[in-house]
Amino acid sequence: MSFGFQVTSRDGGARRGVMTTPHGAVETPAFMPVGTQGAVKGVTQRDLEALGAEILLSNTYHLYLRPGDGLIARQGGLHRFAGWPRPILTDSGGYQVFSLASRRTIDEQGARFQSHLDGSAHLLTPEKAADIQAQLGSDVAMVLDECLALPAEAGAARTSMERTLRWAARARTRFLEIRAGTASGVIVTNPGQAQFGIVQGGVYPDLREESAEQTVKVGFEGYAIGGLSVGEPADVMYDIVARTAPRLPEDRPRYLMGVGTPSDIVEAVARGIDLFDCVLPTRNARNGQLFTSAGRINIRNARYAEDNGPPDPACECYTCRTFSRAYLRHLIHAGEINAATLNTLHNLHFYLDTLRRIRESVSFGRFESFRVAFHQGLSGQPHDS
Ligand SMILES: [Zn+2]
Repeated sequence: MSFGFQVTSRDGGARRGVMTTPHGAVETPAFMPVGTQGAVKGVTQRDLEALGAEILLSNTYHLYLRPGDGLIARQGGLHRFAGWPRPILTDSGGYQVFSLASRRTIDEQGARFQSHLDGSAHLLTPEKAADIQAQLGSDVAMVLDECLALPAEAGAARTSMERTLRWAARARTRFLEIRAGTASGVIVTNPGQAQFGIVQGGVYPDLREESAEQTVKVGFEGYAIGGLSVGEPADVMYDIVARTAPRLPEDRPRYLMGVGTPSDIVEAVARGIDLFDCVLPTRNARNGQLFTSAGRINIRNARYAEDNGPPDPACECYTCRTFSRAYLRHLIHAGEINAATLNTLHNLHFYLDTLRRIRESVSFGRFESFRVAFHQGLSGQPHDS
């Protein structure tokens, strides 16, 4: 199967579709659990299949440094190495270089940095990011973009956006060489890989519009909106998404990177987004924060010490069908590994089920009533934190 995307129904600005990849189809709007090291923390690949996850995100920066994209290519690619036969999207590594690596410097060529693991020196260029992802063999590869530090003045945001555009063109040229088989030294483990461009431009609508138009001119199989959910107010993010999405081709998937809370996802779907990833459901699960239909709860809270109810009475996941709030609170206070597993199973179920309900509501022309009811449910009860 080669890469493709088809919108199957629309409801207002929201759309439902199917993204096909060499490793199977993904119903959109879709949420991608984050498997940083080629594994989603706390749960197994079997758990993820049972939860109905259709696509995972994995982090190029981490896999490149350890165990190395060459090793993974020699093991047959990331799908085989990680025992995940379904679709995978990899990021470019840029975000982690900006957030994790030490002594990083950015110039026109790329990003120089030292590994956070052993201090070794590396240069990540747009071409190198394409090569690494070709060796990993993900179904969707992302271009290297420059991650703008916030707050950014309009001038700095423009400079960064324009560099990202030049890098996008270089990444596409390299990707097409890899696809044509003329990139020497690269072990291509997934010949059907697609590549997505990334729209940048900070919180400036005119820069976002220009970035979208120019990125579309380069030409990619799909498009992402990057650099949001980095501290700006939610209404600013929604406004940028609302202005950017219509500038992207109707017949290509749209991916809002690193977003977000359940409310953010519903609002972004309303503005035409198809793909999401976020560490919130998995990271917060390990800290004891559970997403529920009535808002977030922190299971560490003393008020749950003798609460024999399920984490979310409206949830049908294994954790909610089997365990009480009192038991989950005990596990996390006892430092039990199962606390992370059971909380992660619930949070991922909540996210994936929310996306399922979104898709159904779009199909039946009821997205707007779903959206209103969803937000009302979340505000029905005070949040723990
Ligand atoms: Zn549950």
